[in-house]
Amino acid sequence: MKVYKFGGASVKDARGVRNLLDIVSGETELFIIVSAMGKTTNALEAVFSAMQRGDEAAALASIDASYAYHRTIIDELMGADRTIEDVDKLFEQLRNIVRNTIYRSSEAELWYDTIVAYGEIISTTIISNYLNGHGVKNRWVDMRRAFLTEQRHKDANVNLEATEIRLKREIAGSDVSVFVGQGFIGGAPDGTTTTLGREGSDYSAAIVANVLGAESMSVWKDVDGILNADPKIFPDARKIERLNYMDTIEMAYSGAQIIHPKTIKPLQQKNIPLYVRPFGDKHASGSVITGDVERAYEPIMIQKSNQVLLKLHSRDLSFVLEEKFAKVFNTFDSHRIKTNIVHNSAVDLYMSVDSSWHIDDAILELEAEGFDVEKSEDVEMVTIRYYNEELYHRYAFDERIIIKQVTPHSLRFVRHK
Ligand code: ASP
Ligand code: MG
Repeated sequence: MKVYKFGGASVKDARGVRNLLDIVSGETELFIIVSAMGKTTNALEAVFSAMQRGDEAAALASIDASYAYHRTIIDELMGADRTIEDVDKLFEQLRNIVRNTIYRSSEAELWYDTIVAYGEIISTTIISNYLNGHGVKNRWVDMRRAFLTEQRHKDANVNLEATEIRLKREIAGSDVSVFVGQGFIGGAPDGTTTTLGREGSDYSAAIVANVLGAESMSVWKDVDGILNADPKIFPDARKIERLNYMDTIEMAYSGAQIIHPKTIKPLQQKNIPLYVRPFGDKHASGSVITGDVERAYEPIMIQKSNQVLLKLHSRDLSFVLEEKFAKVFNTFDSHRIKTNIVHNSAVDLYMSVDSSWHIDDAILELEAEGFDVEKSEDVEMVTIRYYNEELYHRYAFDERIIIKQVTPHSLRFVRHK
Protein backbone atom coordinates (compact mmCIF):
# COMPACT_ATOMS: atom_id res chain seq x y z
CA MET A 1 0.00 0.00 0.00
CA LYS A 2 1.08 3.57 -0.70
CA VAL A 3 -0.42 6.65 0.88
CA TYR A 4 -0.94 9.87 -1.07
CA LYS A 5 -2.01 13.06 0.64
CA PHE A 6 -3.48 16.02 -1.22
CA GLY A 7 -3.78 19.31 0.64
CA GLY A 8 -6.47 21.93 0.23
CA ALA A 9 -4.44 24.02 -2.22
CA SER A 10 -4.04 21.00 -4.52
CA VAL A 11 -7.78 20.49 -4.79
CA LYS A 12 -8.92 24.11 -4.65
CA ASP A 13 -10.58 24.02 -8.08
CA ALA A 14 -11.72 21.65 -10.83
CA ARG A 15 -8.31 21.79 -12.43
CA GLY A 16 -6.75 20.53 -9.22
CA VAL A 17 -9.19 17.65 -8.96
CA ARG A 18 -8.46 16.66 -12.57
CA ASN A 19 -4.78 16.79 -11.80
CA LEU A 20 -5.36 14.50 -8.80
CA LEU A 21 -7.12 12.08 -11.15
CA ASP A 22 -4.12 12.20 -13.46
CA ILE A 23 -1.72 11.46 -10.58
CA VAL A 24 -3.68 8.49 -9.20
CA SER A 25 -4.87 6.97 -12.49
CA GLY A 26 -3.48 3.50 -12.99
CA GLU A 27 -2.43 3.16 -9.34
CA THR A 28 -3.59 0.25 -7.23
CA GLU A 29 -3.07 -0.45 -3.51
CA LEU A 30 -3.40 3.21 -2.77
CA PHE A 31 -4.88 5.12 0.16
CA ILE A 32 -5.67 8.73 -0.72
CA ILE A 33 -6.05 11.28 2.05
CA VAL A 34 -7.62 14.59 1.09
CA SER A 35 -8.01 17.88 2.93
CA ALA A 36 -10.86 20.32 2.60
CA MET A 37 -10.89 22.18 -0.71
CA GLY A 38 -9.07 25.50 -0.85
CA LYS A 39 -9.84 27.68 2.13
CA THR A 40 -12.92 25.73 3.19
CA THR A 41 -11.69 25.10 6.72
CA ASN A 42 -11.36 28.85 7.25
CA ALA A 43 -14.84 29.33 5.84
CA LEU A 44 -16.21 26.73 8.25
CA GLU A 45 -14.37 28.34 11.13
CA ALA A 46 -16.35 31.46 10.20
CA VAL A 47 -19.56 29.40 10.37
CA PHE A 48 -18.57 28.28 13.82
CA SER A 49 -17.70 31.81 14.99
CA ALA A 50 -21.07 33.05 13.81
CA MET A 51 -22.74 30.25 15.76
CA GLN A 52 -20.65 31.18 18.76
CA ARG A 53 -21.91 34.76 18.51
CA GLY A 54 -25.45 33.49 18.15
CA ASP A 55 -25.70 34.91 14.64
CA GLU A 56 -27.57 32.16 12.82
CA ALA A 57 -28.15 34.23 9.69
CA ALA A 58 -24.42 34.90 9.26
CA ALA A 59 -23.64 31.22 9.85
CA LEU A 60 -26.14 30.14 7.20
CA ALA A 61 -24.85 32.77 4.78
CA SER A 62 -21.32 31.40 5.17
CA ILE A 63 -22.60 27.90 4.51
CA ASP A 64 -24.33 29.12 1.36
CA ALA A 65 -21.11 30.74 0.17
CA SER A 66 -19.23 27.51 0.76
CA TYR A 67 -21.93 25.57 -1.07
CA ALA A 68 -21.63 27.91 -4.06
CA TYR A 69 -17.87 27.43 -4.11
CA HIS A 70 -18.15 23.63 -4.12
CA ARG A 71 -20.99 23.79 -6.63
CA THR A 72 -18.74 25.63 -9.08
CA ILE A 73 -16.15 22.89 -8.81
CA ILE A 74 -18.76 20.15 -9.29
CA ASP A 75 -20.29 21.97 -12.27
CA GLU A 76 -16.92 22.30 -13.93
CA LEU A 77 -16.09 18.68 -13.31
CA MET A 78 -19.37 17.06 -14.21
CA GLY A 79 -21.48 19.62 -16.08
CA ALA A 80 -24.04 21.98 -14.57
CA ASP A 81 -26.94 19.57 -15.03
CA ARG A 82 -25.44 16.93 -12.75
CA THR A 83 -25.25 17.08 -9.01
CA ILE A 84 -23.78 14.89 -6.33
CA GLU A 85 -26.76 14.28 -4.10
CA ASP A 86 -24.60 13.33 -1.17
CA VAL A 87 -22.95 16.73 -1.26
CA ASP A 88 -26.32 18.47 -1.15
CA LYS A 89 -27.26 16.29 1.81
CA LEU A 90 -24.05 17.13 3.62
CA PHE A 91 -24.68 20.85 3.28
CA GLU A 92 -28.21 20.34 4.54
CA GLN A 93 -26.86 18.48 7.58
CA LEU A 94 -24.54 21.36 8.24
CA ARG A 95 -27.38 23.88 8.06
CA ASN A 96 -29.37 21.75 10.46
CA ILE A 97 -26.54 21.69 12.95
CA VAL A 98 -26.48 25.47 12.88
CA ARG A 99 -30.26 25.71 13.21
CA ASN A 100 -30.72 23.09 15.91
CA THR A 101 -27.75 23.42 18.18
CA ILE A 102 -28.17 25.03 21.53
CA TYR A 103 -24.69 26.39 21.79
CA ARG A 104 -22.88 26.48 25.10
CA SER A 105 -19.43 27.97 25.35
CA SER A 106 -18.24 25.03 27.47
CA GLU A 107 -18.74 22.93 24.33
CA ALA A 108 -16.94 25.30 21.95
CA GLU A 109 -14.38 22.74 20.82
CA LEU A 110 -16.99 20.03 20.27
CA TRP A 111 -19.06 22.25 17.96
CA TYR A 112 -15.97 23.58 16.25
CA ASP A 113 -14.94 20.03 15.35
CA THR A 114 -18.43 18.97 14.35
CA ILE A 115 -18.68 21.86 11.90
CA VAL A 116 -15.19 22.13 10.42
CA ALA A 117 -15.01 18.36 9.78
CA TYR A 118 -17.53 18.86 6.99
CA GLY A 119 -14.83 20.43 4.82
CA GLU A 120 -13.06 17.09 4.48
CA ILE A 121 -16.25 15.04 4.37
CA ILE A 122 -17.46 17.12 1.44
CA SER A 123 -14.14 17.21 -0.43
CA THR A 124 -13.69 13.44 -0.23
CA THR A 125 -17.30 12.85 -1.29
CA ILE A 126 -16.73 14.91 -4.43
CA ILE A 127 -13.35 13.37 -5.19
CA SER A 128 -14.36 9.76 -4.54
CA ASN A 129 -17.39 10.24 -6.76
CA TYR A 130 -15.39 11.90 -9.53
CA LEU A 131 -12.68 9.22 -9.47
CA ASN A 132 -15.28 6.46 -9.59
CA GLY A 133 -16.73 8.06 -12.70
CA HIS A 134 -13.33 8.35 -14.36
CA GLY A 135 -11.83 4.91 -14.18
CA VAL A 136 -10.40 4.97 -10.66
CA LYS A 137 -12.71 2.67 -8.76
CA ASN A 138 -12.39 3.44 -5.08
CA ARG A 139 -14.07 3.12 -1.73
CA TRP A 140 -14.89 6.19 0.36
CA VAL A 141 -13.76 5.66 3.95
CA ASP A 142 -15.34 7.52 6.86
CA MET A 143 -12.38 8.45 9.03
CA ARG A 144 -14.67 9.41 11.90
CA ARG A 145 -15.19 5.66 12.22
CA ALA A 146 -11.74 4.53 11.17
CA PHE A 147 -9.68 6.76 13.48
CA LEU A 148 -10.19 6.45 17.21
CA THR A 149 -8.82 9.56 18.86
CA GLU A 150 -8.56 10.61 22.46
CA GLN A 151 -11.56 12.32 24.02
CA ARG A 152 -10.26 15.79 23.27
CA HIS A 153 -11.61 18.19 20.72
CA LYS A 154 -9.78 20.47 18.31
CA ASP A 155 -6.34 18.94 18.73
CA ALA A 156 -6.83 15.22 19.28
CA ASN A 157 -4.19 12.53 19.07
CA VAL A 158 -4.95 9.23 17.42
CA ASN A 159 -4.86 5.91 19.27
CA LEU A 160 -2.75 3.78 16.94
CA GLU A 161 -3.63 0.33 18.27
CA ALA A 162 -7.39 0.83 18.14
CA THR A 163 -7.15 2.61 14.79
CA GLU A 164 -5.25 -0.26 13.24
CA ILE A 165 -8.14 -2.58 14.03
CA ARG A 166 -10.80 -0.11 12.93
CA LEU A 167 -9.17 1.00 9.72
CA LYS A 168 -8.42 -2.55 8.64
CA ARG A 169 -12.06 -3.39 9.34
CA GLU A 170 -13.23 -0.45 7.22
CA ILE A 171 -11.22 -1.54 4.19
CA ALA A 172 -11.61 -5.30 4.61
CA GLY A 173 -13.43 -7.26 1.94
CA SER A 174 -13.19 -4.45 -0.57
CA ASP A 175 -13.30 -5.35 -4.24
CA VAL A 176 -11.23 -2.29 -5.04
CA SER A 177 -7.76 -1.41 -3.81
CA VAL A 178 -7.99 2.37 -3.90
CA PHE A 179 -9.42 4.17 -0.88
CA VAL A 180 -10.32 7.81 -0.33
CA GLY A 181 -10.44 9.12 3.23
CA GLN A 182 -10.55 12.48 4.97
CA GLY A 183 -7.52 14.06 6.48
CA PHE A 184 -7.76 16.02 9.73
CA ILE A 185 -10.70 14.22 11.36
CA GLY A 186 -11.45 11.25 13.57
CA GLY A 187 -13.92 10.06 16.15
CA ALA A 188 -13.75 10.26 19.95
CA PRO A 189 -14.62 7.36 22.26
CA ASP A 190 -18.03 9.01 22.91
CA GLY A 191 -18.79 8.93 19.17
CA THR A 192 -18.45 12.65 18.53
CA THR A 193 -16.27 14.02 15.75
CA THR A 194 -12.78 15.22 16.56
CA THR A 195 -10.18 17.13 14.57
CA LEU A 196 -6.45 16.66 14.82
CA GLY A 197 -5.32 20.30 14.74
CA ARG A 198 -5.12 22.73 11.83
CA GLU A 199 -3.15 21.34 8.91
CA GLY A 200 -3.53 17.91 10.47
CA SER A 201 -4.13 16.00 7.24
CA ASP A 202 -0.45 15.17 6.97
CA TYR A 203 -0.69 13.53 10.36
CA SER A 204 -3.76 11.58 9.20
CA ALA A 205 -1.85 10.26 6.21
CA ALA A 206 1.06 9.24 8.42
CA ILE A 207 -1.29 7.33 10.73
CA VAL A 208 -2.77 5.48 7.77
CA ALA A 209 0.74 4.69 6.51
CA ASN A 210 1.74 3.42 9.94
CA VAL A 211 -1.23 1.18 10.67
CA LEU A 212 -1.34 -0.28 7.17
CA GLY A 213 2.46 -0.69 7.03
CA ALA A 214 2.66 1.34 3.82
CA GLU A 215 5.78 1.24 1.67
CA SER A 216 5.78 5.05 1.37
CA MET A 217 3.80 8.22 1.93
CA SER A 218 3.72 11.10 -0.54
CA VAL A 219 2.48 14.59 0.13
CA TRP A 220 1.57 16.37 -3.12
CA LYS A 221 2.09 20.09 -2.70
CA ASP A 222 2.28 23.28 -4.67
CA VAL A 223 6.05 23.54 -4.12
CA ASP A 224 8.99 21.76 -5.73
CA GLY A 225 9.84 19.97 -2.52
CA ILE A 226 11.13 21.07 0.86
CA LEU A 227 12.99 24.33 0.70
CA ASN A 228 15.57 25.49 3.21
CA ALA A 229 13.59 28.70 3.73
CA ASP A 230 10.29 30.29 2.89
CA PRO A 231 11.07 32.10 -0.39
CA LYS A 232 8.53 34.78 0.47
CA ILE A 233 10.59 35.75 3.49
CA PHE A 234 14.13 34.69 2.69
CA PRO A 235 15.07 35.08 -0.96
CA ASP A 236 17.47 32.53 -2.48
CA ALA A 237 15.71 29.58 -0.88
CA ARG A 238 16.87 26.21 -2.25
CA LYS A 239 15.34 22.78 -2.42
CA ILE A 240 16.66 20.12 -0.04
CA GLU A 241 16.81 16.75 -1.83
CA ARG A 242 17.10 14.48 1.17
CA LEU A 243 16.39 15.14 4.79
CA ASN A 244 16.22 13.05 7.94
CA TYR A 245 13.25 12.71 10.25
CA MET A 246 14.91 14.64 13.04
CA ASP A 247 15.67 17.78 11.04
CA THR A 248 12.19 17.63 9.57
CA ILE A 249 10.58 17.57 13.00
CA GLU A 250 12.72 20.47 14.14
CA MET A 251 11.82 22.46 11.04
CA ALA A 252 8.13 21.74 11.40
CA TYR A 253 8.15 22.54 15.10
CA SER A 254 9.91 25.83 14.44
CA GLY A 255 7.08 26.81 12.13
CA ALA A 256 8.14 25.67 8.65
CA GLN A 257 4.95 25.16 6.70
CA ILE A 258 6.18 21.95 5.13
CA ILE A 259 4.54 19.26 7.09
CA HIS A 260 2.53 19.00 10.28
CA PRO A 261 4.92 18.36 13.19
CA LYS A 262 2.96 15.30 14.35
CA THR A 263 3.51 13.57 10.98
CA ILE A 264 6.99 12.24 11.47
CA LYS A 265 6.64 10.01 14.53
CA PRO A 266 4.22 7.47 13.02
CA LEU A 267 6.44 7.24 9.94
CA GLN A 268 9.65 6.92 11.89
CA GLN A 269 8.20 4.11 14.00
CA LYS A 270 7.93 1.97 10.88
CA ASN A 271 10.72 3.57 8.90
CA ILE A 272 8.40 4.69 6.11
CA PRO A 273 9.88 7.21 3.66
CA LEU A 274 8.02 10.46 3.16
CA TYR A 275 8.09 12.13 -0.23
CA VAL A 276 7.15 15.76 -0.69
CA ARG A 277 6.30 16.07 -4.36
CA PRO A 278 5.18 18.88 -6.65
CA PHE A 279 1.54 18.58 -7.51
CA GLY A 280 2.09 20.13 -10.91
CA ASP A 281 4.72 17.65 -12.09
CA LYS A 282 4.22 14.04 -11.15
CA HIS A 283 7.58 13.01 -12.63
CA ALA A 284 9.67 15.46 -10.60
CA SER A 285 11.64 14.03 -7.72
CA GLY A 286 10.64 16.43 -4.93
CA SER A 287 12.27 15.82 -1.55
CA VAL A 288 12.51 12.63 0.43
CA ILE A 289 12.61 12.27 4.19
CA THR A 290 13.95 9.08 5.72
CA GLY A 291 15.74 7.97 8.85
CA ASP A 292 19.15 7.35 7.43
CA VAL A 293 20.15 10.60 5.76
CA GLU A 294 23.22 12.38 7.07
CA ARG A 295 22.37 15.62 8.77
CA ALA A 296 21.80 18.46 6.35
CA TYR A 297 24.27 21.16 7.23
CA GLU A 298 22.81 23.61 4.81
CA PRO A 299 21.33 26.46 6.89
CA ILE A 300 17.58 26.21 7.29
CA MET A 301 15.67 29.38 8.05
CA ILE A 302 12.19 29.44 9.47
CA GLN A 303 9.95 32.23 10.57
CA LYS A 304 6.90 31.64 12.70
CA SER A 305 4.29 34.35 13.03
CA ASN A 306 1.17 34.14 15.18
CA GLN A 307 3.26 34.35 18.31
CA VAL A 308 2.38 35.92 21.61
CA LEU A 309 5.18 36.83 23.97
CA LEU A 310 4.35 36.62 27.64
CA LYS A 311 6.52 37.97 30.38
CA LEU A 312 5.66 36.51 33.75
CA HIS A 313 6.95 38.20 36.82
CA SER A 314 6.57 36.40 40.08
CA ARG A 315 5.25 38.89 42.66
CA ASP A 316 6.86 37.12 45.59
CA LEU A 317 10.16 36.85 43.69
CA SER A 318 10.13 33.08 43.88
CA PHE A 319 10.75 31.72 40.40
CA VAL A 320 13.59 29.72 41.82
CA LEU A 321 10.99 27.28 43.05
CA GLU A 322 10.25 24.44 40.68
CA GLU A 323 6.59 24.31 41.53
CA LYS A 324 6.17 27.75 40.01
CA PHE A 325 7.37 26.38 36.69
CA ALA A 326 5.10 23.40 37.02
CA LYS A 327 2.17 25.70 37.72
CA VAL A 328 2.83 27.78 34.63
CA PHE A 329 3.23 24.82 32.30
CA ASN A 330 0.17 23.08 33.69
CA THR A 331 -1.89 26.21 33.15
CA PHE A 332 -0.77 26.43 29.52
CA ASP A 333 -1.31 22.75 28.99
CA SER A 334 -4.82 22.86 30.39
CA HIS A 335 -5.63 25.67 27.94
CA ARG A 336 -3.82 23.82 25.16
CA ILE A 337 -1.45 26.67 24.54
CA LYS A 338 1.71 25.63 22.73
CA THR A 339 4.97 27.00 24.01
CA ASN A 340 7.85 27.61 21.62
CA ILE A 341 10.54 29.40 23.55
CA VAL A 342 11.13 29.63 27.26
CA HIS A 343 13.67 31.91 28.87
CA ASN A 344 14.00 32.47 32.59
CA SER A 345 15.74 34.50 35.25
CA ALA A 346 15.30 34.33 39.02
CA VAL A 347 12.03 36.24 39.00
CA ASP A 348 10.96 36.48 35.37
CA LEU A 349 9.89 33.94 32.84
CA TYR A 350 9.53 34.81 29.16
CA MET A 351 7.54 32.53 26.93
CA SER A 352 6.71 32.76 23.29
CA VAL A 353 3.54 30.78 22.66
CA ASP A 354 1.28 30.13 19.71
CA SER A 355 -1.56 32.58 19.53
CA SER A 356 -4.78 30.95 20.80
CA TRP A 357 -8.30 31.74 21.96
CA HIS A 358 -7.45 30.90 25.53
CA ILE A 359 -4.44 33.06 26.29
CA ASP A 360 -6.42 35.65 28.22
CA ASP A 361 -8.02 32.93 30.36
CA ALA A 362 -4.60 31.49 31.09
CA ILE A 363 -3.32 34.95 32.02
CA LEU A 364 -6.19 35.46 34.47
CA GLU A 365 -5.36 32.16 36.12
CA LEU A 366 -1.69 33.02 36.36
CA GLU A 367 -2.47 36.43 37.83
CA ALA A 368 -4.52 34.72 40.49
CA GLU A 369 -1.50 32.55 41.22
CA GLY A 370 0.71 35.52 42.01
CA PHE A 371 2.21 36.49 38.66
CA ASP A 372 2.19 39.80 36.87
CA VAL A 373 1.82 39.05 33.18
CA GLU A 374 2.70 41.26 30.26
CA LYS A 375 1.58 40.27 26.81
CA SER A 376 2.90 41.42 23.42
CA GLU A 377 1.30 40.31 20.21
CA ASP A 378 3.40 42.01 17.56
CA VAL A 379 6.15 39.40 17.67
CA GLU A 380 7.48 36.59 15.52
CA MET A 381 9.94 33.79 16.08
CA VAL A 382 12.85 33.03 13.78
CA THR A 383 14.92 29.85 13.82
CA ILE A 384 18.12 29.40 11.86
CA ARG A 385 19.21 25.81 12.05
CA TYR A 386 22.80 25.07 11.11
CA TYR A 387 23.53 28.80 11.08
CA ASN A 388 26.94 29.99 9.95
CA GLU A 389 28.94 33.02 10.89
CA GLU A 390 27.62 35.14 8.11
CA LEU A 391 24.00 34.44 8.99
CA TYR A 392 24.72 34.94 12.65
CA HIS A 393 26.08 38.39 12.01
CA ARG A 394 23.32 39.26 9.63
CA TYR A 395 20.48 38.33 11.99
CA ALA A 396 21.57 38.05 15.60
CA PHE A 397 22.14 41.71 16.32
CA ASP A 398 18.81 43.04 15.18
CA GLU A 399 17.53 45.70 17.58
CA ARG A 400 14.05 44.25 17.39
CA ILE A 401 15.16 41.07 19.17
CA ILE A 402 13.66 40.49 22.61
CA ILE A 403 14.87 36.95 23.36
CA LYS A 404 17.74 35.16 21.69
CA GLN A 405 18.90 31.60 22.19
CA VAL A 406 22.01 30.10 20.66
CA THR A 407 23.03 26.44 20.68
CA PRO A 408 25.77 24.83 18.59
CA HIS A 409 23.19 23.93 15.93
CA SER A 410 20.64 26.66 16.05
CA LEU A 411 20.04 30.33 16.53
CA ARG A 412 16.58 31.21 17.57
CA PHE A 413 15.02 34.50 18.52
CA VAL A 414 11.78 36.31 19.12
CA ARG A 415 11.62 39.81 17.72
CA HIS A 416 9.16 42.62 17.23
CA LYS A 417 7.63 42.54 13.79
N1 ASP B 1 -8.38 21.29 6.26
C1 ASP B 1 -7.59 21.37 7.45
C2 ASP B 1 -6.95 22.74 7.57
O1 ASP B 1 -7.08 23.54 6.68
C3 ASP B 1 -6.59 20.27 7.56
C4 ASP B 1 -5.49 20.31 6.54
O2 ASP B 1 -5.56 21.06 5.58
O3 ASP B 1 -4.52 19.58 6.71
O4 ASP B 1 -6.35 23.01 8.56
MG1 MG C 1 -4.44 22.52 4.35
